[in-house]
Amino acid sequence: MGCPDNNRVFSSGIARNAPLLEFRPLFPPRLYHMTPRKILVTSALPYANGAIHLGHLVEYIQTDIWVRFQKMRGHTVHYVCADDTHGTPIMLRAEKEGIRPEALIARVHGEHSRDFAGFHVAFDNYYSTHSDETRHYAEDIYARLKAAGLIEVRAIEQHYDPVKEMFLPDRFIKGECPKCGAKDQYGDACEACGAAYAPTDLKNPYSAVSGAKPELRHSDHYFFKLSDPRCQAFLRQWTRAPGRLQPEAANKMQEWLGADEENRLTDWDISRDAPYFGFGIPGAPGKYFYVWLDAPIGYMGSFQNLCDRTGLDFNTYWAKDSDTEMYHFIGKDILYFHALFWPAMLEYAGYRVPSKVFAHGFLTVDGAKMSKSRGTFITAESYLQQGLNPEWLRYYFAAKLGSTMEDIDLNLDDFVQRVNADLIGKYINIASRAAGFIAKRFDGRLPATDCTPAFRAELPGLMEAAEEIAAHYEAREYNRALRRVMALADQVNQYVDRNQPWVLAKDPGKDAQLHQVCTLLINAFRLLTLYLKPVLPRLARRAEEFLAIDPLHWADAAHLLPAGHRINAYEHLMQRIDPKQVEALVDANRESLAPAAAATVTTTSTATTANPATAPETASPHPSGDDKARTAATIGIDEFSKVDLRIARIVEASHVEGADKLIRLQLDIGEERPRQVFAGIKSAYDPATLVGRLTVMVANLAPRKMKFGLSEGMVLAASDEGGQTPGLFILSPDSGARPGMRVK
Ligand SMILES: [Zn+2]
Repeated sequence: MGCPDNNRVFSSGIARNAPLLEFRPLFPPRLYHMTPRKILVTSALPYANGAIHLGHLVEYIQTDIWVRFQKMRGHTVHYVCADDTHGTPIMLRAEKEGIRPEALIARVHGEHSRDFAGFHVAFDNYYSTHSDETRHYAEDIYARLKAAGLIEVRAIEQHYDPVKEMFLPDRFIKGECPKCGAKDQYGDACEACGAAYAPTDLKNPYSAVSGAKPELRHSDHYFFKLSDPRCQAFLRQWTRAPGRLQPEAANKMQEWLGADEENRLTDWDISRDAPYFGFGIPGAPGKYFYVWLDAPIGYMGSFQNLCDRTGLDFNTYWAKDSDTEMYHFIGKDILYFHALFWPAMLEYAGYRVPSKVFAHGFLTVDGAKMSKSRGTFITAESYLQQGLNPEWLRYYFAAKLGSTMEDIDLNLDDFVQRVNADLIGKYINIASRAAGFIAKRFDGRLPATDCTPAFRAELPGLMEAAEEIAAHYEAREYNRALRRVMALADQVNQYVDRNQPWVLAKDPGKDAQLHQVCTLLINAFRLLTLYLKPVLPRLARRAEEFLAIDPLHWADAAHLLPAGHRINAYEHLMQRIDPKQVEALVDANRESLAPAAAATVTTTSTATTANPATAPETASPHPSGDDKARTAATIGIDEFSKVDLRIARIVEASHVEGADKLIRLQLDIGEERPRQVFAGIKSAYDPATLVGRLTVMVANLAPRKMKFGLSEGMVLAASDEGGQTPGLFILSPDSGARPGMRVK
């Protein structure tokens, strides 16, 4: 790890000889060709606690398109990101899985990296906030804010779990809604009536971690003094700078800041008490930086790591007087952190502040919030596993994305129609219609004479649109860019219809005309490919191979393929979407599916989990009938061996009062005392008939506290949902098996 010492940040000289033009985004894009810009771009850090889903991908795809576009323009762009790895949820989840947080975040880092690569999101560095680099900058920024008199220690009162011996974040306190009385509501808001409140308002509160009744306790917390007049003044000026924030974001900031004479900002609590997974606060034993303090600092940590690997200079981009550009792409829900806390922290720690913050809206699917029960909470992994082309989604998102914070909708029917109509019907077809004739009739060669004048005459605007389309990409108006590109594609298709190459091909006297028409089409296809390349990088690469050309840059729109150029044989570049694929995707994402552990041990039939840890009493115990079509992903023997399956004797079985689906089992697996497991098999078994039977249980499933008690494992059961044979069938070993034997 090669972090610079603190002084280096300010002592090293920044190259100031670049002309001012270089970083003025308002200048016409054409001028950028003269002086490449230096741009640092980030996407928000995904939390290392869950899978990447299509909602996340809106942002990464949006950012990636912008970065690829800027690189095509010849600018120097560094795109960095990282996993956000700290905080209570990570700590508790690791504990539940029986692993160290470091092991959890390492695994998730691998999953996230795989998913981003799968969607062609090309970070220059994808790192982790749990790194020496991020720790260095967290401590550094904290020390500088402290030196500036902007850190204050104050005692606050907070819920404390006396059993787990930890302070509880709001989300880890549950109880009855103070408004409507609904049970099991979180400490911040009621899901039944929508009321928002403080955790201290909950009736009969209990800890979601241990179930214990929380106590109010005092603790010293560290605050960043956002209410300081210096911060107020700075943020007023910063948020109002033209173009810094989108208009709707600037208005939001205005609301939060209040009128000029008001002071609406409150100090920000940046510390958490042990136990906590994060960076300890220097000089404050038992206190940790709140995860939201070090998350944006992770941009610096990731960039420092990139610098160390590639020899880039950190200060060129982060020193106070840096003349480079820095942009943060974020979701609108974290605007507060990026437009208030973060710039104020940077300003008073002596670093440069962001040039602009670009917020986007949320993703809805078929007009509604993504839903696990409807199967529209779709993970990146399942999308790829179902064999859907990631560029279909990149195109569809881009066609919907503008520069505003409006939500975008993934309408699944429209997705199929639009991708098929635009990409296959309008764009790919141009190449497939012309390529065959060039190959068969002209040996793959274009005419020996320059066709540029004919091209300009027959397809006016196609070359000339380059700067207009570039301006749309630059402004993140991808929907406009693609609308323009598809209008050009329409124009090309009209040219095809006017000239009908398949008719020309029948008349040997019209060879030259056929050659010319097909050549113009191949050139049109090349230009459209160039314009679509930021959105469809892989398709563009294959098209470049077909066209036998170097990777396309934006400046290449100013010329056509050289006379006499020879292209390669055409291979089909993209499949149409079959609506059945989308149906299968939705089916695969329905929550009622057997969870991973059960799916792992499934062979031909669908396993229904009888494990309440993953099939809550309130949810349907049955997987959807459609999941028979789902093929389980292949796993290695190592993965399978992680599941500790044991022969278990059912020593007790009883009904559970108040539970419609559960039976309480006591299972002997050769341990000192039997394990208690709640199994969702009441519909199929009378408890009395189960006692004494041998079955198979997952012995290393993390225990889960239920309303009725602790569940310490899961029994396996087969089912044929939606098929001929209704019911549930628990497994039995062959005679001779003894409790505690390992099943392998
Ligand atoms: Zn309520």
